Amino acid sequence: MKLLFSSILILLSLNLYAQKHKNLNPVAYYILVDSTNTKTSNDSLSLELDIKKDFWNHTVYNPYKEVTVTFPLKIAFTDSTYFSPIGKDKVVTSRYGWRRGRAHNGIDIDLITGDSIFSMFDGIVRMARYTRGHGRTVVVRHYNGLETVYAHLSKYGVKENDTVSRGSYLGKGGVSGNARGSHLHLVVNYKGIPINPEYLFEFNEENKIRSSELWVTKKWTQAIAHNSKRQSKIKPLLTEEEAIASLVKERSVYIVKSGDTLSRISKLNNITIASLCKVNAIKRNSVIRIGQKLVIEK
Ligand SMILES: [Zn+2]
Repeated sequence: MKLLFSSILILLSLNLYAQKHKNLNPVAYYILVDSTNTKTSNDSLSLELDIKKDFWNHTVYNPYKEVTVTFPLKIAFTDSTYFSPIGKDKVVTSRYGWRRGRAHNGIDIDLITGDSIFSMFDGIVRMARYTRGHGRTVVVRHYNGLETVYAHLSKYGVKENDTVSRGSYLGKGGVSGNARGSHLHLVVNYKGIPINPEYLFEFNEENKIRSSELWVTKKWTQAIAHNSKRQSKIKPLLTEEEAIASLVKERSVYIVKSGDTLSRISKLNNITIASLCKVNAIKRNSVIRIGQKLVIEK
């Protein structure tokens, strides 16, 4: 039944997709979908149809303000490389992180005013307009939910709602807005949340995406956790389990008082008895004494 339902969904999406892309043979595409991972193919297919559906706003830089993003979040790629946003060696002059007492939410790549800027992936141009600070800016929304932002441009090569491919010309780099010298300020956002681009991509001549599936923890979205002057140590998290295990848990100490039981202590601290026992290497029936120190991990 489930299979039948997804098949119907695929066929419905295919009709829409075929209407949009008249050169596509729906039968051939159906076989392609069917012979690979149905769920993934169907997901990317519907995403392709959907990226303009919600929060498609040309005037607001972050239209996702009301959206709650839960961590760790998964970012998936269909390619193993990105297209370099500039046509020469990438020299990173300032990194994602804390800078002069403020959050620097992107990375700066050196260029000469007039150098061409290219889209890193296929997508649709959500914004191509002047914003305070960023100057002339192009924002491209991609099919995996990411948006890439190309700021301080001197000239636009696209307009809003243009469909672009990986490597499409977007405009020329420059020094517009609040920029000290010409450079590309590149931001990678997921639903309005900036991610340290170096966590996802290697900024060298190979243009590698670190993995086809990357799990992003809050740390990789907080500029304060990084320094704009040096690259953070990067160990990509490839599964949800790895991402959860990487989270540093908060620990505190509880001093046992008169009348305390493990049950009472766990309730007071909003944790389970099992967790309390595990962290302290004790058993449920262990005797605890007044003044004993127990570690509480949340
Ligand atoms: Zn910058």
